[in-house]
Amino acid sequence: MDKILEGERFTANSLSELRSEAEHCKRCDLYKNATQTVFGEGSRDAETVLVGEQPGDKEDLAGHPFVGPAGIVLDKALVEAGIERDSCYVTNTVKHFKFEPRGKRRLHSKPNAGEIRICSWWLRGELELIKPKIVVALGATAANCLVGNAVRITKDRRRIFHPDGLPPVLVTIHPSYILRIRDRDKADIETREFVRDLAEIRRFLSIH
Ligand code: SF4
Repeated sequence: MDKILEGERFTANSLSELRSEAEHCKRCDLYKNATQTVFGEGSRDAETVLVGEQPGDKEDLAGHPFVGPAGIVLDKALVEAGIERDSCYVTNTVKHFKFEPRGKRRLHSKPNAGEIRICSWWLRGELELIKPKIVVALGATAANCLVGNAVRITKDRRRIFHPDGLPPVLVTIHPSYILRIRDRDKADIETREFVRDLAEIRRFLSIH
């Protein structure tokens, strides 16, 4: 997978302008089945930008990022790490929900490399307009998009990378990973590890 898309520049002068443009995006086919574009949200002056993979079922319907079960896990972990979500900007690598219909349910389907590459154009716009001090890649899709394919979550979590042309990127898991763990003890351990990862944000900001 390519890193965040180079080349064509966005023309929007503000986040709200960029958001309005993204509402009508047809750069790839994912807009066809999704309910709406789920753009990032949060403070324009955020020092921290959190980047997930793509909106889920709940986010697609609500039109807001990280409002479903994974968002609840993220919110709790941020609180435990001493970070206010309101002080962050929260977004996704891909702005439309990709899914496979199963009866009445819509099952998450991983965006492919081409979709991620094309949609990262919007993410780059968000980062260039916000200019955060640190970006947090929540999971492999965001980490690979922002840092490159060599990143592995298991070996690189809690590491801070310095990709060319981007703010420093802290790598951690996607909170949905914790939701998929059946074993309660393991889920608790992973939750604590996730909080430790997020606490790196505060440590980083305290010295930069
Ligand atoms: S997924 Fe991204 S690039 Fe594709 S249509 Fe939606 S906003 Fe545009």
